[in-house]
Amino acid sequence: MIHRRKFLQLGSLGLSSFSFPSFISSKSTAARRPIVISTWDAGIDANKAAWQVLRNGGRALDAVEQGVMVTESSQNCCVGLGANPDRDGFVTLDSCIMDENGNCGGVAFLERIKHPVSVARRVMEKTPHVLLVGAGAQQFAVEQGFPLEPQKLSPDAERSYKEWLKKSEYKPVINIENNANKKNQAAFAPAKLDNGEWNHDTIGMVAMDANGNLSGTCTTSGAGFKMRGRVGDSPIIGAGLFVDNEVGAATATGQGEDVIRICGSHLVVELMRQGLSPENACKKAVERIIKIKGSKAKDIQVGFIAINKQGEYGGYCIQKGFNFAVCYADDKNFLVDGKYVL
Ligand code: ASP
Repeated sequence: MIHRRKFLQLGSLGLSSFSFPSFISSKSTAARRPIVISTWDAGIDANKAAWQVLRNGGRALDAVEQGVMVTESSQNCCVGLGANPDRDGFVTLDSCIMDENGNCGGVAFLERIKHPVSVARRVMEKTPHVLLVGAGAQQFAVEQGFPLEPQKLSPDAERSYKEWLKKSEYKPVINIENNANKKNQAAFAPAKLDNGEWNHDTIGMVAMDANGNLSGTCTTSGAGFKMRGRVGDSPIIGAGLFVDNEVGAATATGQGEDVIRICGSHLVVELMRQGLSPENACKKAVERIIKIKGSKAKDIQVGFIAINKQGEYGGYCIQKGFNFAVCYADDKNFLVDGKYVL
């Protein structure tokens, strides 16, 4: 499997594929719009699609949906139907979306639907609700005309799952996550794999359009080999994503339980409201998780990214290894290494 962070992505916009130190890039972004940023290496391709909408005067909401659909369609280990399954071998998807008017929608524990972001948008636009889950979410998707895809793992996911099964000795046990048995824990927490990669990724994307309106989305298959039925932060408004058109927008990736614990993306936006830059707001949110986790913080990764109404952007994470993609011109779509606390 090609791991995203090892995959050197050359943008077709003639784009740089190297990483800027974030202190350089974040200082030079004042009053910039349109702009789109998104998590991890896969953000480069996703930004490209979003940028096509933004550069033509399109709405940020359309841009973020189009953007992350690229990742949902790719054979990504952690987003879309090609991703790693849960412990029982099923790919389950989580997603949410939020616009400039505070409208929002989400789906969680959704199976066999290719574009959860678009179903999340339908939840927002066509129902009086914010979140649909599981069979109900799937039923709604089908009613809305989304095709039911075959229940089949991608070749990469199948290989990873078989590999995982060798060690996992999975037996459904209550509180398995708290079990002192390291063999069982390794499947989910700590989330660092033997090869140094993290056991999860997500695409979170936030954008401001030419009219100065903000929107965002977050979409994922969640943590690899999670317990069946587990839902992380990504479809939860306020946790994996938050947008306030007066202030800014933020999204998260990493260990979702710890993002939910602090209502992470909402916290980042509120910190920006108090005057913090996007980068410092993300840093404070990361520090709050570290304070709560204490010595266990070294076993997890969480990253936040954010933009404000001035078009400034920033990101921060717990530990080295997180990056995000920033795009604000035809020839500006580049990766930024997230600063880290530990
Ligand atoms: N935040 C996602 C989750 O916990 C996974 C990730 O971003 O790596 O489901």
